[in-house]
Amino acid sequence: MKKCIVIGGGIAGLTSAVYLSKSGIKTEVIESKNKLGGRAYSIKDRENKTVIDNGQHILMGCYKETLKFISLINASDNFFYQRQLFIPFINSNSEIHYLEATKLFYPLNLFIGLLNHSFLNFSEKISLTTFFIKLAFSKNVDLNKLTVEEWLICEKQNENIRKTFWEIICVGTLNSGTKNASAQIFKDILKKMFLDGNFSSTLIIPQKGLSETYCQPANNYINKMGNKISLNENIIELKIENNSVTKIITDKRIIEDFDFVISAVPLTALTKFYSGDEIKNISLEYSCIISIHIWLKINKLKNKFYGLINSPIHWVFNHDDHITLVISDANYLIKKSNDEIIDMCFAELKKYIKTKREDIIDYKIIKEKSATFIPNVENLNKRQTTKTKINNLFLAGDWTDTGLPATLEGAVISGKKATDLILKTC
Ligand SMILES: Cc1cc2nc3c(=O)[nH]c(=O)nc-3n(C[C@H](O)[C@H](O)[C@H](O)COP(=O)(O)OP(=O)(O)OC[C@H]3O[C@@H](n4cnc5c(N)ncnc54)[C@H](O)[C@@H]3O)c2cc1C
Repeated sequence: MKKCIVIGGGIAGLTSAVYLSKSGIKTEVIESKNKLGGRAYSIKDRENKTVIDNGQHILMGCYKETLKFISLINASDNFFYQRQLFIPFINSNSEIHYLEATKLFYPLNLFIGLLNHSFLNFSEKISLTTFFIKLAFSKNVDLNKLTVEEWLICEKQNENIRKTFWEIICVGTLNSGTKNASAQIFKDILKKMFLDGNFSSTLIIPQKGLSETYCQPANNYINKMGNKISLNENIIELKIENNSVTKIITDKRIIEDFDFVISAVPLTALTKFYSGDEIKNISLEYSCIISIHIWLKINKLKNKFYGLINSPIHWVFNHDDHITLVISDANYLIKKSNDEIIDMCFAELKKYIKTKREDIIDYKIIKEKSATFIPNVENLNKRQTTKTKINNLFLAGDWTDTGLPATLEGAVISGKKATDLILKTC
C-alpha cells in the first residue's frame, strides 16, 4: 500500500488527507501546533464560557469543492445556508438597507436585487447593471495588469458605486482594497459568485466554532479510515536524494517509510524546511484581519450579520451571546494598541448600532497579521503549481496557484489537486 505524509493540518492538508484516505492511500498528517485548523480554528474563551473563532469565516454557494469536502466528512449540518442572497447593510445613521435577491427567477432576481439597493441612485443602478451584463458576456478580456479600481473606472463605475458597493465586495472577497487587488482575479470570482446560478451568490455561515464545524469531522473521517494525525510535531527538513524526498526530519523522529509528501503549509513555513529553486527568493505580502469579539449586556441585533457602509469595521456578526466585528485589509492597524482599536470600535458601534460603552461586558481582540496573501499582480505571478521539481513532493495551500484568492475554497481545491496528482501516479 502506498503511503503519503501530509505536512500541515489546516483545511488544505485535511482535504488532502480525507481524499487520500477515501482512495485507500495510507496517510499521516503532521501538524506542528496542538490543534488542527491552521488559520481557521476556534478556541474556548474561558472567562465568558463562549467558543470563539480566530476569525469569522463565511463560505459562499460558489465554494463547490468546500461543500463537497464538508459533505464527505459529514459536516454539512454544521452550517447555516441562505436560500438566496441577503445582506443587511447599515449606514452611520443606523439605517438598514437590504441587498436582497428577489423571488424572481435567476439571474433576474439578482439584477432586480441590485436595482433595489438603496445606496445607489437610478443612474448608478443602471451603471451597475450594465457592468454585470457586460461581465456576463465578456470572454477573454485580459485584466492581468490592472488593479480593481483601474478596471472599475474604465467601466464607468463612479466614486459612490465604488465606495458603497465595490469596495465592500472587494475587501470581503479578497481581503484587499480596490486600489491594490488585481482586476483579473476579482473578475474571475465575480463570475463565480454572481453569474453561476442562484445558489452561488448565497452566503453560508458556520453554526458552531470552526474546530467543531470541520476540523473534528475531518479528524474523525481520517481516523475512521485507519489513518493518523500527529499533532505537536514540527517538520524541520526534507532530505532530497535523486530528485525525490527520501527522509522527513521532524523535531521528534526521522520518517523514511513513505512514497509521497504533500506540503500544505504557507510559503513562509515551507521555506524553512525546503529550499527548492522554484521557491528560492520568493516571498508574498500578506494582509491582516482583525476580529473583535464583544459580549454585550443586551444584544438588540436581529439579523445574523450586517455589512457596515463607510466604516473601518466591515462586518458585524451576531452570535446571540456575543457579537464579532471584522476589520479586513487591516495592515494599517497592526501597530495600533488594543486600547486604540477598541476605542475606534466603540465610536463606530455608537453610530451604527447605537450601542453605548456601558453596554459592553467584555471584549477580546484577535489580530491575524498574515491572514491571506494580497492578490495583487506581483503576488499572483509568484504562486507555485502543485507539482514541484521533486518527483514525490506536491504543494498545497491557499497560496498555491489555484486561480482563486486565499480562501477556504482555494485551500480545499489545492489539497484536492495534490491528491489527484498522486492518485494519477499510483
Ligand atoms: C481571520 C481570518 C478570516 C478569514 N476569513 C475567511 C472567510 O471568511 N472565507 C474564506 O474562504 N477564507 C477566509 N480566510 C482564509 C482562510 O482561513 C485560509 O485561506 C485557509 O484557512 C488557509 O488554509 P491552508 O490549509 O492553506 O493554510 P493554514 O490554515 O495556514 O494551514 C497550514 C498548517 O500548517 C501547519 N504548519 C506550518 N509549518 C509546519 C511545519 N513545519 N510542520 C508541521 N506543520 C506546519 C500550521 O500550523 C497550520 O496548521 C480567513 C483567514 C483568517 C486568518
